[in-house]
This record gives sequence, structure tokens and C-alpha cells, in this order.
Amino acid sequence: MSKYIFVTGGVVSSLGKGIAAASIGKLLEARGLKTAIIKCDPYLNVDPGTMNPYQHGEVYVTDDGAETDLDLGHYERFTHAQLTKDSSITAGKVYYSVITKERHGDYLGKTVQIIPHITDEIKERILKVSKSNDVDVTIVEIGGTVGDIESLPFLEAIRQLRWELGEHYALNIHVTLLPYIKSAGEQKTKPTQHSVGRLREIGIIPQILMCRTERPISQEQREKIALFCNVDVEDVIEAADVKHIYEVPLFLKKEGLDELILKKLNIKLADRGIKSWEDGVVKRLRFPAKEVKIAVVGKYISLQDAYKSIYEALVHGGIANNAKVSIFKVDSEEVETHGFKKYIKDAHGILIPGGFGSRGIEGKIAAVKYVRENNIPFFGICLGMQIATIEFARNVAGLKAANSTEFDPQTPDPVISLIEEQKKIENLGASMRLGAYTCVLEKGTKSFEAYKNEKISERHRHRYEFNNAYRGQLTQKGMVIAGLNPERDLVEIVEIKDHPWFVGCQFHPEFKSKPDVAHPLFKGFIEAALNCGK
Ligand code: GLN
Repeated sequence: MSKYIFVTGGVVSSLGKGIAAASIGKLLEARGLKTAIIKCDPYLNVDPGTMNPYQHGEVYVTDDGAETDLDLGHYERFTHAQLTKDSSITAGKVYYSVITKERHGDYLGKTVQIIPHITDEIKERILKVSKSNDVDVTIVEIGGTVGDIESLPFLEAIRQLRWELGEHYALNIHVTLLPYIKSAGEQKTKPTQHSVGRLREIGIIPQILMCRTERPISQEQREKIALFCNVDVEDVIEAADVKHIYEVPLFLKKEGLDELILKKLNIKLADRGIKSWEDGVVKRLRFPAKEVKIAVVGKYISLQDAYKSIYEALVHGGIANNAKVSIFKVDSEEVETHGFKKYIKDAHGILIPGGFGSRGIEGKIAAVKYVRENNIPFFGICLGMQIATIEFARNVAGLKAANSTEFDPQTPDPVISLIEEQKKIENLGASMRLGAYTCVLEKGTKSFEAYKNEKISERHRHRYEFNNAYRGQLTQKGMVIAGLNPERDLVEIVEIKDHPWFVGCQFHPEFKSKPDVAHPLFKGFIEAALNCGK
């Protein structure tokens, strides 16, 4: 039977609860435990797929095609937990299913209420994940901040679960903030006391406090927090800011977090350390031998979280090549108004990530032209691959008005267009080509060289596709179709001949990259950028 760790957050949002949950998973895996991780999001959207990136940041996609919160990306990067659509529980999904059951008459005439019907649905979904994956420990992160009205059903559900499961089977960890007030020269514990107080009011007593802080916590402060928050001094864990997120598990281990969790869950396992993470990831991050500059040209550059997995995967590519990756974030609209050279002339490689809508498109096309003509390594992902195709069609194949029908429905040369089944779709939610699909690689291409494998599987999230009617015309001019989906003959990767490294893929490789196992295309891209001769 699985044991459970419930992670809540207090005082403010953006405390890094997701990284904390992922790091707990990492530490427990290192002890030999099989873990599952679940993110509960209290918003009423069924999934974040229809949300604006400014609202939500990146939409992370699982193998089975679920559009989820970006914290699931942290979980996959830190652990080996198998994530599926069940790993993300939103209030939208929960209410949708309860209301559907009510319409179906499943509640046999009862009044349907938040307690017990919504809370039971949440509990069932949490328990299902651990049962179907046969895991030792299930980590459940509750999104939002304690005190939010919409988190209440989730908090009540985990309160009941801990009561039902019992002391050594469930554990509440509260991630909280110890702000440092400069003018007073003091670290304050009051917000943490209040936050734990709010939890206690609804019947949850956290057994471990993870205190986010800029500065070390003194013994005196630890004792004060312990006394006012009803925990032992050893249960107050310092979670100080670190330079790289991948250092967090090491830091928490030094604080004794894994040992403490095992003790509280009554699990006895030897400490085997996390040496491979320390040597293979953290040391390489701290002491890189080289440096490489990569420009990422996108529409949502100002938003830190919009391309989260892309930025992480670039760092992983750097780790694999023993290089520090300095990322230049370039706003594609600025490129449109001010020209691209100023922004990308120093870059050793440029990457164009996924995106939707026509804003900034011409800026990206100009940037691709520049790197294609100047032999600078290029990596186009999803929209980036479509842009590379449009640029090639316009400037090499002479189809001057070539475009995607997403940006110009009347274009005479729709080199990127909708496939038949997408044309019939009316609903926006979960209606794209989503999740993992097979791709067969062409030998002798840069992609094959990177993967060293003929058959690969990668995750998708898009509506538009390379238009096969243009395949002959474009390949004749030097475009290479490096990867195809065998079932439906869809173009998944384009490259161009006689270029040091020019790869555009219709899928999202960034979702499968890990710090200790960089994605082959990111590794290859960074290697090419290091060799670009600048
Ligand atoms: N907007 C493009 C499409 O829908 C690309 C999507 C993406 O980059 N994720 O096909």
C-alpha cells in the first residue's frame, strides 16, 4: 500500500513548491522507493490547454496527451515517476465529472455537495494514481496558497485522507516563507505562524515545515518556529535559495529531509547517497569548461515560465557538453521592428520555440533566413519548424507568398496547413494533435546522428502540419525530410542540406529532456553551437 506525502504552500505563491515536491521525489527515489507525483490545481479550467501563457506559463504535455501544469515538467525532470493524465487533478476535471455523474443519476436522488461529493472525487482520483502505478510513496502537491477559497475542497480531501490512512501512512509538509525585512535586519517568522494557523483551523497539522529563505535560519529562529507551529525543531527544514534548481535536492538532503520523511513514514532504508546527481548534474553546472550563447526568439519572452522546458532542456544540453548555456531571450516582435541582427548576431545558435497566432511571425522568419544563410546552428520546435519551412519555401524555393494557413488563410502556397480531421473540430479544449507519436528517422541526417536510433517517440501539441503537397518542391531545393510519422505519413522533422546544424521538429523534444540525460537533439544542438566557429 502506498504512503502519501501532501505538500501545501503558504504565505505567497511562487515559492517553488513544485521544485520542492520534485526534490522530495528525487530524494526518495535515491533511497530506492518507487514514487508517483500528482499536482492538484484548484482552478476551474478542465486543463490549462486553453489558458493564455501570461495566465499560466508553459503547458506541459504528457505521453498520453494530457495538457498539464508546468510543475509536472519538474517532476519528470527530477524523477522517474510515470506521469499521465491522472497525474493532474484540476477542480475543473473534478466538478465536470461530479456534474456529469449527477446528470446521469448516479447519486440516486441525493443532494450533491462539495462535501462529500467533490472531496470524495478528489480522494478517489488521488488513490487511483498510486494503485494503478503500484508505488511506495505518492507525493501530492496542492496548488495555490493556503487561505485561498478555491483550495478548500482539496485541503479538506487531504485532511480526510490523512485521518483515514493514519499516522505512518500520510504526512503533511508545508512549504512556507521566512521573509527578510532589510530595514529591520531581521528574518520574520510571523507569516509562517499565520499560515500554519490557517491550516490548523481546517484541521491540518503539518509535520514538516520547509522554510523558503534568502538567509540561513538561526537555531533560535528554528526553535521559535517549532514552538509556535507545533513541530519539533528538527522538523523545521531550511530551504534556502540556491543558484541552480538542480541543487535543491542536495541542499534538502544536507538538511536531513529524506531521513526525516522516512522516519515519519516509518520506512527503514539505507542511505545510498545521490552521488550520480551530484557529479553528473550539479558539479557540471557549477564548473562548466566552456560557454555557449543561445538566442531564443519567441513571443512570450518577457514571461519567465512560458518556455520553461525549453530553457531547462538547453541547460541539459549544456551539461552533456560540459558547457554553460547563456540564454538570450529575444522578443520576436522587437526583431520585427528593429531588425534581428542587433539581437542575435553574437549567438552561437538560435532556437525558435512553439507558439500560436500571427504576432511576431515575420520577425522569426527573418531570423531563420539569417541563420540559414550564415551557417549558424538552428533549432526550430513546433511553430519553429513551421517557420523554417515557410522561410525555405519563400526564399529558397521561390514561393514568395508561402505561409501557414494559421497566419494567412488566403495564401496561394499553404506550405503549412490543417489536416482534414482538424478542420472538423469546433471545441478548443484538448482538440489538438496531442501526446506521443512514433517517428521514423532517415539515416544520414543530423537527427539520426543525434538519436542514433531509427524509431523514436515524441510528444506533440499542434493543429497545423507540413503540407505534403509541397514535399517534392521543397526537397528538390535542398530541404531534407529527416523524420516521418509512419502511420499517417506526416512530416515530423525537416533539415536542410549543406548547413552545419539546421533541424526543425514538429514535436516538443524539450518535454523529455532530463538534467542527467539530455535530449539527443538538445545535446546535438549545443554541440553544434559550440563548434560554430564564432
Ligand atoms: N500554432 C502551431 C500549430 O498549431 C504550432 C503549435 C506549437 O508550436 N505548439 O500547429
